[in-house]
Parts: sequence; structure tokens; C-alpha cells
Amino acid sequence: MEKSEDWRKLSRRQFLKASGAASAVMGSAGLGVFGYQAGKDSFSYTGCESFQGQAENFNRQRFAADHATYEKVGVASRVDARTEVIFSRVSSLMRQWDEEKGLDSLDKGLQAYYKKHPYDLKEDLHARKKIFPKRQKDEIKYKKKFVLAKAWSNAMSAVWPPGIRETPERYDFPRGEQYGEPVEPLKMKSPEKTSQLIKQISYQLGSTLVGITKLNPDWVYSYPMWGRGLNPELPLEIPGHWEYAIVIGTPMSWDPMYANPNYGTSFDAYAKSRIIAYRLIKFIRQLGYPARPHTPGVEYDLMVPPIAIDAGLGEQGRHGVMITPELGSNFRPAVVTTNIPMKTDKPIDFGVQDFCKTCRICAKNCPSRAIPMGDKEVVRGYRRYKINSSRCYNFWYSNLGNIGCRLCVTVCPYTRKSNWLHRTALEVTANDPSGMSQRILSKMQKSFYPAPHPQEYYIPSMGGKNESYREPPWWLQTEDFIDIDI
Ligand code: SF4
Ligand code: SF4
Repeated sequence: MEKSEDWRKLSRRQFLKASGAASAVMGSAGLGVFGYQAGKDSFSYTGCESFQGQAENFNRQRFAADHATYEKVGVASRVDARTEVIFSRVSSLMRQWDEEKGLDSLDKGLQAYYKKHPYDLKEDLHARKKIFPKRQKDEIKYKKKFVLAKAWSNAMSAVWPPGIRETPERYDFPRGEQYGEPVEPLKMKSPEKTSQLIKQISYQLGSTLVGITKLNPDWVYSYPMWGRGLNPELPLEIPGHWEYAIVIGTPMSWDPMYANPNYGTSFDAYAKSRIIAYRLIKFIRQLGYPARPHTPGVEYDLMVPPIAIDAGLGEQGRHGVMITPELGSNFRPAVVTTNIPMKTDKPIDFGVQDFCKTCRICAKNCPSRAIPMGDKEVVRGYRRYKINSSRCYNFWYSNLGNIGCRLCVTVCPYTRKSNWLHRTALEVTANDPSGMSQRILSKMQKSFYPAPHPQEYYIPSMGGKNESYREPPWWLQTEDFIDIDI
């Protein structure tokens, strides 16, 4: 892997000599308690404090790499959103499945998928037949405790921009106000200045992180999701004007996130990123250029994490989620595709791949064992950690929290607030080629952040205790505000 600057290519001996890493890390351990206290200070909650982009406070230029840290090792194939995205697959299964007819009750595409992946059929039916009834039962018994957590999550998702119901050719292009005529693109001064402008506008709209890349066609779905104005029976032809991808991102609220799976929600960050994306397309269209928002977790035509990696926002971790220097994995993105000419960012390599090799904290804490303890595998032509999405999804229905789990995000040592201890640790690990500081710091993480046993996160009727990783914030503790019997 080539780096833009040679000074990162230190040998183990040089690193130890130059930085005294071992003593720095051991010294940090003694100061850990103070760091833990500093993390409780809300001023260290990176992500919401600025509309000027200062939240993007890690100098990426030093870690810019010519290639992203995923490896292409074979012929790539695009994801079929109808069957390979678990949300679409399970909702089709739920609608179509007939116990007597079995596989024959499903449409041909789904049948073909399950014949090729019988394990997924077993897991998906397990959710439908076993987990859902148990959860319904426990929800009646225990849901009072999580009234405020649910109310807050629903409040965050209450106002969403209207969805897209038209093809890219119709929807994406700016039209004259009265006559629906195409609008001439304005002549921009330079791609560099346009990138600078788009980033600043994104920050002004509330984005914490922004990156720009050329769109790699491998990351666009081969068949579209329902509801995007595209026919799900026909392959998704990538429109010529989806030339660039602007990736924006905002963090989930820190304290509920630490109290996953019962008190966190993804809707807060998804809603913020989604609103920013819709505002950004309006801005770009006023300049005369086409733009389309892709907003997980509801409406998108592409795989967002590898695009965010290409745009230099971070690297993929063992848990399959992207890790950014500022927010760790506490991040929910949206993408805008456009053809306004822009200077692109480079991917970064700040040491995550080495850290993940030995850390494995997410894999050990994952209640469903969906995260591999072992090595990367080749998936669709790329070498990466392969997550068992069926297992993961089934756990989402085995706890009482708002949809999802997010424990892998929560426990990851990179998902820490921006206080002096965590920033020092980030600098040390990012610059240590020996791997020693990574090992010491992941040990420290295990000591300072004890966690419940993974089984305890499950609902009681599945052998659990409704546990959360941390105490919920005071404003989500139902029993302190509402007079109900818990
Ligand atoms: S979201 Fe939860 S169940 Fe899924 S991989 Fe992460 S820790 Fe495991
Ligand atoms: S918890 Fe550890 S192994 Fe998992 S993604 Fe984070 S750094 Fe990598």
C-alpha cells in the first residue's frame, strides 16, 4: 500500500525509538480514569457542535493512500438489492411464504436465492416462526420500561423528506420553474473550488463529515429496490450522470448509542443525513446540475460503506461497518450522486486493518455471533470481513430496543468521544507499524469498558435479561418521568 508521505513507513525499531510508544501507552493507562471522566463531558461529543466543518478534526492528508484498504482479488459482481439486502428479502418472505407450498410460494428470484443459500432460508424462517412470537410476548410484559426510548426514536423519524417515485432521468435533473424545461448548468470556475463549495455547504447544512469520490459501478445495486421509480424486474442501468458521489454523515446521539441495544436508535442520524442530502440536491440543481439522494436505511440504489471508504472518510472494520477517525463507527451516511465536476478525495489508511486483526472486541461481544473471529473472505471479488447478516438481523428482533442492535458500533474502541485520551490513542495507533500499541490499547479497552455477557442482551423468553451495554441517559429513563409500574 503506497502512502502519500514516507514518514509513516517507520520500522518497528524506529517507531519505538522515535515516539516512545510503549511508555506513552502505559502512561495513558494510568490516566485512563481521568479520560473516562472527560468522556462524560458533553463538550467532547463530536459531531453536533459545529456548522463550519471543524468536527472533521483529523488530518486525513497524512494518511491518504492510492488505494482503499479493501482489496479487489477477483471479478466483482453487483449486489442484487431484492434478495441480498436482508430488509427486502425478509419482507418479501413475510408477504409471500405459505407453509404448505414452501419454496413454491415464493417468486422465482427469491426461490433461486434460497436454493443457493439454504442457510439464509433457515435463519429467515427461524425469525418468522420462533423469534417474532417470543418477542411479541415479552414486549407486552416489559415494554413499559422502554417507553421513552421508543418515543424518542419515533420522534427522530417523524419528519422525513418525501420519497422519490421517478426514474433518475426524470427526477434528478433541474427543470425550469414554469415549463419543465432542462436548465443549463452554470460554468463553475474549477473542480477544486466546486469541491470546496460543496463541502462547506454540506457543513452548513449540518453534516459532520463530507467526502467526494468518483462512483465505482461495482457499488451500485444490480437490481433496484422497490419505490425508486425503477422497475425491480429490470437490471439497474447506471445513469451516465451518476459520475460523482458526495458522502455526508452525522453521528447517532452518543449517550443512547452507548446504551444499545435497548435505548439507541439509528433514526436520529439517518434522519439528519437524509434531510441534509435532500437539501444538498436542491443546492446542486440550482447550479443547473442533476443530483439524486441515496438515503439509507430507506431509499438507496447503492452500497454506501465502500463509497464512503473511497471518499476518504474511513476504513471498514471487522464488524463490517466503516470506522472514521472522528466518530469511529458512530456514523450514519447518505450519498448524493451528481455530475458537477469536483476534485475527489483519496481513501485513507490510518491503521484500522492492523487493529482489527488482533482486537476482535466486536466479534466477542456480538450476541448473534454474526461477526467473524477469523480472517477476511472474498466476497463478490473483494477481500473483506464477511458478516452473517441473517444472524445479525434475527438478533434485532431478540431484544426490545428500537429496530437494530448497534452493539458492534458501541463496543468498538474507535467509537469514543473526542477527549484528549482518545485522540492521543488514535494518533499513537495510526502511526505505530509494530502493532504493539494496538494490542495494549485493545487490552485497556477491555479493562475500562466491561460489558454484559452477550446472552444477557436477549429478551427473557430467549434466556436473556434485557441488558444494555451502558446505563441509559437520564432523559430516557422512563421510570423517572412516568408513573407506571415497571
Ligand atoms: S448489530 Fe448486533 S447482532 Fe448485528 S453484528 Fe453488530 S453486534 Fe452483532
Ligand atoms: S471492535 Fe476491534 S475488531 Fe471490531 S471493528 Fe472495532 S477495532 Fe475492529
